[in-house]
Amino acid sequence: MKVGITRTVEGRGQALRPLNLKRVAHPSMRRPCIVPVSHKPDDKGYVRVVPRDGTGGRARPLHRLAWQSKYGPIPEGYEIDHICKVRSCCNRQHLRMLTVSDHKRITAACRYDDLHEEARCYWEATGRTATGADLAKRFGTHPNTPYGWLKRWKAEDQITVEAE
Ligand SMILES: [Zn+2]
Repeated sequence: MKVGITRTVEGRGQALRPLNLKRVAHPSMRRPCIVPVSHKPDDKGYVRVVPRDGTGGRARPLHRLAWQSKYGPIPEGYEIDHICKVRSCCNRQHLRMLTVSDHKRITAACRYDDLHEEARCYWEATGRTATGADLAKRFGTHPNTPYGWLKRWKAEDQITVEAE
């Protein structure tokens, strides 16, 4: 099935509006993200459009339509993941199809990594005075999680010192 995504109707409003896209350089992807400038993302960061494919359907996520336009229908039990983590992006080179459970697992792991990096920055910013309890409260983790982080961060320092 071919899906036309060049002219769209916005999800809530009824205004017919052409889809305008722009390229945005990505810090780690080789190719840029392609994001709409004509349509705003919803509160979860996804852009929804109604494809002008004659089916008269409801608004659907743009990245799913972009995927389908190249690879065909998305089978039951699969989701389209943004490798670039930019939810409004519809660059098909930044998308991949995953099972729902793999998608959940990968998203949770990424979120954890981001949190870990953020906590490390915060810890450095406090002059390494933030305690495990401080970090757990600030980053909303399980109370024990930051103690593991602190142990690791301090151990990393040991290695640096020994190498010098
Ligand atoms: Zn992208």
